[in-house]
Amino acid sequence: MFSCTTDDQPQVGCLCHQPGIQNLSRRIGADLSRRGLVAGAAASLAALGISGVAQAQSAAPARPIVLTNFRLFDGRNAQLRQNQRLRVVGGRISGLAGGATGAPDGAEVIDCGGRVLMPGLIDAHWHTLFAGLSMQQLMGGDVGFIHLAAAAEAERTLMRGFTTVRDLGGPVFAFKQAVDQGLVVGPRIYPSGGMITTSGGHGDLRPLDEVPRQAGLAGPTERIGGNFLADSPEELRLRVREMLLQGASQIKLVGGGGVSSPRSPLDMSTFSVDELRVGIATAADWNTYVTVHAYAPETIQRALTAGAQCIEHAHLMDDAMARMMADKGVWLSTQPFLSDADSLPLTGPSRVALEQVIAGTDNAYRLAIKHRVKVAWGSDMLFSPVMAARQNIMLTHLTRWYSNAEILTMATATNAELLAMSGPRNPYPGKLGVIEDGAHADLLVVDGDPLTNIAILETPEKSLGLIMKGGKIFKNTLAPRA
Ligand SMILES: [Zn+2]
Ligand SMILES: [Zn+2]
Repeated sequence: MFSCTTDDQPQVGCLCHQPGIQNLSRRIGADLSRRGLVAGAAASLAALGISGVAQAQSAAPARPIVLTNFRLFDGRNAQLRQNQRLRVVGGRISGLAGGATGAPDGAEVIDCGGRVLMPGLIDAHWHTLFAGLSMQQLMGGDVGFIHLAAAAEAERTLMRGFTTVRDLGGPVFAFKQAVDQGLVVGPRIYPSGGMITTSGGHGDLRPLDEVPRQAGLAGPTERIGGNFLADSPEELRLRVREMLLQGASQIKLVGGGGVSSPRSPLDMSTFSVDELRVGIATAADWNTYVTVHAYAPETIQRALTAGAQCIEHAHLMDDAMARMMADKGVWLSTQPFLSDADSLPLTGPSRVALEQVIAGTDNAYRLAIKHRVKVAWGSDMLFSPVMAARQNIMLTHLTRWYSNAEILTMATATNAELLAMSGPRNPYPGKLGVIEDGAHADLLVVDGDPLTNIAILETPEKSLGLIMKGGKIFKNTLAPRA
């Protein structure tokens, strides 16, 4: 949702496209590619005879882990199951069974003390590189500091119970590698890379002295690795291919205006239907999907007509668009912005757009429910550790429209269904968001029952007794077995 402001409005609180941020992002990307930070680290490990993969694997416990004495929320079933035991081997769930039969020799046994075991949470709209860094830190920090701060936020994200995020904008490819190799503690990342927009669209925040755009010259949005401009089908195809070659699991196209782009109001649209078709077909060449950032009905209609498989935001959608989304089986990935408390302070046109979004939130959810649209949940928190810390509160905002069980399912099994749309581009093949045989062992043990009181998830530091990702325990405050 947030991404941009102009030069001429440096006071606007949004952020990702202010010139300072653009310069910073450019430095991050350039520095990473020049120095090959992650590649360098991997090379060092290789020199020691330890591959990156081996490093990641060595971090996972070699012996099986058996969890006992819990009530199970499996990601789908609203009824907690009692008297289960669960075995984790090699990062996967390898046995879920009733009864209290003994653990295999050598297994680590964890008594969950009757607490609730559930899948790790999934945020379908996150920005890993920018979520937890304040404007001041981004403006003033050097590259090393930026990455350390982003790493610290990634660890906090995991500690909030989020074991997976879908990243919808930012130079995240190298960071994802570092997480996957065990160099950084954080959630699994489904990367989009930079979002692709048009001249004048959401995300185009060039200084006006860079208009007209010069062919062949990278503008600030290209250099930051956050957004890329495309003004023809050929350019669009190129940008999509560039994201895919870097490992994008899905593509994000900007269909219209955005909250934080003062020159692109929410009612405007960017790509034509034919252009969107080119982007979608190019992603389809790689057997993955496109999600389109869209607020206004006209923008949503173009995306749906072109064959987009997912729509981001859609706070201004109307009844016809909700119906069309449902008829076509298209996902709605939206965020429950309820009040000013859910955003950094904004001014000018961005403030107006934010008010439009907040005013539209209730209608969007009601229409989605009325037409049975497939809804994914995301938080879209950006540019503030204070806002990032509200990630769990953005989840519990859903109690306005959904039962606790529906919310927990949305943030686990349902969001995982959306992630699976990446098909062969899925960086983590296998089941996520559910607790069943063969699924990735991404687990939370919750003190209290979130099905009856979901608010306990707003204080994960207290309520989460155990956090496991890929079979590795990242937090365990449960009492040792007597
Ligand atoms: Zn976003
Ligand atoms: Zn967006």
